[in-house]
Amino acid sequence: MKYYSLSNPKEKTSFANAVVNGIAPDRGLYFPEEIPQLAAAFIKELPQLSIPEIAYTAMAPFVGDEIPKAVLEEILKNTLDFDFPVVPVTENIGSLELFHGPTLAFKDVGARFMAQSLGYFNSQKSDQKVTVLVATSGDTGGAVANGFLGVEGIDVVILYPKGKVSKVQEQQLTTLGQNITALEVDGVFDDCQDMVKTAFLDKEITTTRKLTSANSINVARWLPQMLYYFIAYRQLAERKQPFVFSVPSGNFGNICAGMMGQNMGLPIDHFIAATNINDAVPTYLETGEYAAVKTTPTISNAMDVGDPSNFVRIQKIYGNNFTQLKDHLSGYRFTDDTTRKAMKEIYNTSSYIADPHGAVGYLGLKDYLKQHPEKYGVFLETAHPIKFLDTVEETLEMEVPMPERIQSLLDKEKKSIGIKNYAELKSYLLS
Ligand SMILES: *Cc1c(COP(=O)(O)O)cnc(C)c1O
Repeated sequence: MKYYSLSNPKEKTSFANAVVNGIAPDRGLYFPEEIPQLAAAFIKELPQLSIPEIAYTAMAPFVGDEIPKAVLEEILKNTLDFDFPVVPVTENIGSLELFHGPTLAFKDVGARFMAQSLGYFNSQKSDQKVTVLVATSGDTGGAVANGFLGVEGIDVVILYPKGKVSKVQEQQLTTLGQNITALEVDGVFDDCQDMVKTAFLDKEITTTRKLTSANSINVARWLPQMLYYFIAYRQLAERKQPFVFSVPSGNFGNICAGMMGQNMGLPIDHFIAATNINDAVPTYLETGEYAAVKTTPTISNAMDVGDPSNFVRIQKIYGNNFTQLKDHLSGYRFTDDTTRKAMKEIYNTSSYIADPHGAVGYLGLKDYLKQHPEKYGVFLETAHPIKFLDTVEETLEMEVPMPERIQSLLDKEKKSIGIKNYAELKSYLLS
């Protein structure tokens, strides 16, 4: 499989290069040259197959012969070694819990797959160490740190805004040690992001250190997320109803991976993009005009994205055809107030504790199912409620029990390096 830059279809490269470089030289996102088609027999058998078998069949066409079969199987097995249950919430709504991984949010799957793929490619040439440089507003950093911990030949440098991430998130970034370094930036997320972008363009740095990024722009973080939808379908197939997925969306990597699965032949009836008030995509679906919005902070902060990078991939999947896209995707936006009400409603009617992101997904689903009561809906519960403890406890007016592994994480010693500006980042990277 070759990948091309969405800014210039002539700019083609291998899977390995797309993974190692993250983004095309012209700054375009990589996209696979074709969308693989799954055999009808595979879809029919899917509920009887094991998760590693399903994962291999879905992912192998995207990797081609660039990773040997046995290695890819091992990578997928390690990536998916926790549960992804669909938990019934109401008669026709289920919650697909994606938070049973090591850092309690869905980004573990993409981060682990990317870390191991990069580790493999690096072990094949190993002439140069690679530095993964990433800015995080919270969840990405922990997942990347955990996924890359101890991977040979790779150093990880994470920038996070001082005082702007939750305690659990900070501990996940700053307590691992080994090849993971946390830089605590005196500023906000956008400052971290700007410094990372500047470093990627700084020849003095890039000539001495091979840099790569680890956000959902990277195909190895983006594509494996499609497996959630396969794993959910495996659990639901016997219902024989049309399935719709409501995805709490920020950068739109997760939902876009699901759409890729649908286009490969996975029987998904419809997608719902559920956002907070950072609503560039719902507005686009109403007006046909895309415009980035200024990012506004909300209680579902992992979705505070004003200009989602993966949106161009979604358009591409549907041939840049607005009518076709609208046939497959609905969009809804919700305020923090409505989100809190939903968290209460879910708890009061079903004794289910949803985090603010999952609650936004639930709201989108409820609105859609009013028009389509014959369908079965799944919302993606993208983070464990404990990750957003303050909001959850305050909204539900109750204490949420702390899982033991989180308690022991909170007791670990934090190690970070404080930086104030780009010059300090640069001198760290050159040292
Ligand atoms: C990253 C994240 C999202 C948004 O996912 P995208 O793929 O960027 O749309 C939603 N919820 C949580 C908890 C996240 O960490």
